[in-house]
Amino acid sequence: MITAEELKRRVEHSPAFILDMPQVHANLQPLQRIRQASDCRVLYSMKALPLGPLLADLKKRVDGVSVSSLFEARLAHAVLGGQGSLHLTSPGLRSEEFAELGRLCTHISFNSLSQYQRLHASGDGYSKGLRVNPKLSFADDERYDPCRAHSKLGVDVALLQTALPAGIEGLHIHTVFGQTDFQPLQAVIAKLKPFLLRQSGLKWLNLGGGYLYHSISDLNPIIDTIRYLKAHVAEQVFLEPGKALVGNAGYLLTTVLDRFESDGKTVLVLDSSVNHHPEIFEYQRQPLLLDEHKRGCRTAILAGSTCLAGDIFGEYRFDTLPAAGDKMIFADVGAYSLIKAQRFNGYALPTLYLYRDDAVTLLKEDEYADYSRQWLG
Ligand SMILES: *Cc1c(COP(=O)(O)O)cnc(C)c1O
Repeated sequence: MITAEELKRRVEHSPAFILDMPQVHANLQPLQRIRQASDCRVLYSMKALPLGPLLADLKKRVDGVSVSSLFEARLAHAVLGGQGSLHLTSPGLRSEEFAELGRLCTHISFNSLSQYQRLHASGDGYSKGLRVNPKLSFADDERYDPCRAHSKLGVDVALLQTALPAGIEGLHIHTVFGQTDFQPLQAVIAKLKPFLLRQSGLKWLNLGGGYLYHSISDLNPIIDTIRYLKAHVAEQVFLEPGKALVGNAGYLLTTVLDRFESDGKTVLVLDSSVNHHPEIFEYQRQPLLLDEHKRGCRTAILAGSTCLAGDIFGEYRFDTLPAAGDKMIFADVGAYSLIKAQRFNGYALPTLYLYRDDAVTLLKEDEYADYSRQWLG
């Protein structure tokens, strides 16, 4: 929880991605309260930000990691060193990888009945689960909605009216994104209740991610739900948040490279771009700019430096217009930004910094050597 002015003073490179560890720890607090009150288990969904020092720090504070692929599973296993739980679910499991995945993971939730039938016997040592799709939609953009029509994510619960396949010990349910109340969870459990109560002796139930715990003041609905599930449905309940742990703990620091007028509006060209936060372009979202003065009387379009005409962060208000050389900071960009970042047009990835114990430490600078290794081999 470092201030914008401090960051600008202490971060030398631009563009830079900074992870604020005290903020990550603060984000863990509601999850620790839920864990204490319900005796559930909390995993980190590493796809949001698979940064090594973050994983190493979280290892002591969560019960494990959840992953989506072989590379994530290998990285998580390397960091966890075989401690804690390692959960996997993915529509993209390959037969040639499965024996290794079975050794690395403690729990695998199959995404479909055919995936289960094809693969489950080619690995062992892990607990077998099934991802169930309750077919209840909450997202207004179907690109985020695992329960959309013809979904590829999980087995439609309507197809599971008979007994689960032999050997299935757990179930996985993940249906939402960016939720700030538990109403969707309660609705999903209410819909699934007859199905869940028919399953006897389930070992575990994974409730997925998608809830922003630090933005939800009343935790009782989820605590009560988990207590109910542990009493009536499964021995253990897992949560696997991603964005809730890192979203508001990541900053993108950028510098104004140029300023000019275009059709009567001021354009500020930044040394960052949609390369560093592709969801700005994909979902046409405007990221939070700490330097904005909401009541300022000047406005400017903040544009990225790639050749893409639509590479624009948005139009922001200021008291005084920033000038070339000024630094600016986007906040709330810790999840699904750096992991999707790329080098289109030959621009480097942001330099990585960690803020922890009152120190700002440079972790990694993306250099020409990284670019040439990617393209020259
Ligand atoms: C992406 C994902 C998560 C984490 O989602 P957040 O919205 O970042 O909390 C958890 N579980 C599954 C299966 C996912 O696909």
